[in-house]
Amino acid sequence: MCGILGIYSNKNVSKELYYGLYAMQHRGQESCGMAVHDGKEINYKKDMGLVGDVFKTHDLEELPGTKGIAHVRYSTAGGSHMYNCQPLVGTLRKRNLGLVHNGNLVNANYLKEMLEEDGIMFSSKSDTEVILYMLARYYTGDIVEALKLTMDQIKGAYSLVILTDDELVAVRDPHGFRPLLLGKKDDEYIFASEDCEIEILGGKVIRDLEPGEIAVVKDGELKSYNFSNKCKTMKKSCIFEHVYFARNDATIDKVNVYEFRVKSGEILSQDDDVKADMVVPVPDSGWAAAIGYSNASGLPLTEALVKNRYVGRTFIKPTQEERELGVKIKLNPLSRVLQGKSIILVDDSIVRGTTSKQLVKSLRDAGASEIHLRITSPPVKYSCYYGIDTPNRSKLIAATKSIEEMKEYIGCDSLKFLDIDKMMSAVGEGNEFKFCKACFDGNYPVKKIDKEDEE
Ligand code: SF4
Repeated sequence: MCGILGIYSNKNVSKELYYGLYAMQHRGQESCGMAVHDGKEINYKKDMGLVGDVFKTHDLEELPGTKGIAHVRYSTAGGSHMYNCQPLVGTLRKRNLGLVHNGNLVNANYLKEMLEEDGIMFSSKSDTEVILYMLARYYTGDIVEALKLTMDQIKGAYSLVILTDDELVAVRDPHGFRPLLLGKKDDEYIFASEDCEIEILGGKVIRDLEPGEIAVVKDGELKSYNFSNKCKTMKKSCIFEHVYFARNDATIDKVNVYEFRVKSGEILSQDDDVKADMVVPVPDSGWAAAIGYSNASGLPLTEALVKNRYVGRTFIKPTQEERELGVKIKLNPLSRVLQGKSIILVDDSIVRGTTSKQLVKSLRDAGASEIHLRITSPPVKYSCYYGIDTPNRSKLIAATKSIEEMKEYIGCDSLKFLDIDKMMSAVGEGNEFKFCKACFDGNYPVKKIDKEDEE
């Protein structure tokens, strides 16, 4: 998961890109960057770290230009290194290109070997560089044609924003795995991973990009092209965006994230007959689901975990050791509230199980008498090949353990998940077929071509 942003304006965009980066910091905390076209060339700055650490006021002054792109990253393909930071920027046949990418290709290694045979030397390990070189290979002045030829070859998940000398271009892959929205503010066009970025910049959300859409802004006008008519029936938007990643205030592919989470909590409580004193959310993404659970069950909603807001999301830290340390620093139980209480602990998902195990231990140490863990998604049993950090199936607790075994490992008194059909009912009738849920049911919309990564 990454966050991407592009702005086409008639005034300087670096400050807007900077504030937009802040608005999407939740989508990646390892590195960030922006690239701006000043009318002659593309200037950029990117580095490891949070937006506030990487960019200072003088950096923005040194990045003038009326169109630009920006990116926050956490590593899926390629690892957490400076050389994988985005935007990627290059020059070819006297033309400048800049690119930001959210997603993962399933055939990046295959294409990389092919490009290396042609003498191309790679400077990063990310699949984004493969996209840039494929595009550069076909780009002789017509960006739409070059993109169609590139999209013919690259497989998997990609939302892109591209900067050329004349255009700002946004692309969503034929399945629309990753979100990408179009917004407008006066004469300015904004492309962003989530609508909150557009709204925070004072823009109005126009719509989601369609699967396979190539949207080009040139000379102040937007034109839209289709990679293929088939894309209309291929939509597979990632349900995990709604379960975990996106901000509560986002609406992706017409499904509001907050409403989805509240509804998931309500549905989960409907079949639950466990006796407890209160409902406790795991902050932040567990809050909306816990509200739903509390509303439907009539049990009081209580804040019993205090979050340190200055620590990044634990799920997206690159190593297990960092993840474990992250959980300890991040969530502190309120022992005064928990003493002798039986609690329903509501979380959005269990991926590796390590966070839940540590949380349950710290809640018990703080005095909770019973902990009933309720998860508002099904067990994650399969790796995601499309941009979520679960490359190796053996690391997923639900892939190797039954629910009873998971309960024992985590140390809770009972454990329940929302089943797939019930989760999908929360997206609204008729929408369920437009979502990828492969990490829950193993039905991959696009087959992985590269060998699975070892972790
Ligand atoms: Fe999202 Fe899961 Fe599909 Fe990956 S496999 S795109 S996480 S729903």
